[in-house]
Amino acid sequence: MVKVLIIGLGEIGYANAKYLHSLDKPDVQVFAHDIRPAQVAKGLHEGIIDGVVNELKDLEEFDVYMVCVPTHDPADIFKPYLQPVFDVLKRIREHGKRDGVVALESTVPVGTCSVIGDLLDLDRRIHLVHCPERWYKQEQDQGHGIKQPRVIGAWDQCCMKAGKAFYEDMMHIPLFEVPSLEVAEATKIIENADRFKDIAWAEEVKMWCDQLGIQFSTVRHACNTKWNIDIKEARDGIGGHCLKKDSMLYLESGKTVISMIKAAIDADNVYKKRLQTNLPEISK
Ligand SMILES: [Zn+2]
Repeated sequence: MVKVLIIGLGEIGYANAKYLHSLDKPDVQVFAHDIRPAQVAKGLHEGIIDGVVNELKDLEEFDVYMVCVPTHDPADIFKPYLQPVFDVLKRIREHGKRDGVVALESTVPVGTCSVIGDLLDLDRRIHLVHCPERWYKQEQDQGHGIKQPRVIGAWDQCCMKAGKAFYEDMMHIPLFEVPSLEVAEATKIIENADRFKDIAWAEEVKMWCDQLGIQFSTVRHACNTKWNIDIKEARDGIGGHCLKKDSMLYLESGKTVISMIKAAIDADNVYKKRLQTNLPEISK
């Protein structure tokens, strides 16, 4: 029997629970912990989890600790905030099972896993892998859900072996192994910053077209007939918290003097402001 504890039953944790449940494995049990009782009650009610862990103590019965807690500040969703991740990991260090696996799915700044590794005192007890989620709400059924190619980094070889046994053998998720936890951390941040930059560029081009009185959608389709061009759609401004928060993480992590991401954030802000004020040049 493999017992999995999902910590943080938000969008990602919930999607993981749902996915694990769909695998219909009699030898796997999934439990969940969330600070919001209604969220775990929903999971129980829908039958996607086998049980609830109200307090993070007496955790020795679990084999895998899947950490899916949010890493944004509740007061400002675009601001990275890591305290909940560290709080959870301290509990796992105190109460977790020897040889258990910590699978961190939350997005974290480069270098965080190394701090976590020291915190967990890994040589003595627990394995650590970072396998950032790539879940995409709108297209989770088109191969962009939990099961899609994922990047995995590990503290040590023993951790990689344990992580692959969980994600690959048990969850059937195709993995791209990277040589360090830092590469896994960086990959997730760059993925989201890259997407943010692409959409912001489309928004900028749309504003430019509007000012010139040319239809953006026509220009876009025309440009995209070239083999190496892919201008994204400009919709309602860049939504959700992940793309912007991770772009902020990118900016905060490095020491780049000139940044396309900074310009992209500016472009997106102007675009949103124009949408709000409904300036005629931006109306559809
Ligand atoms: Zn290990």
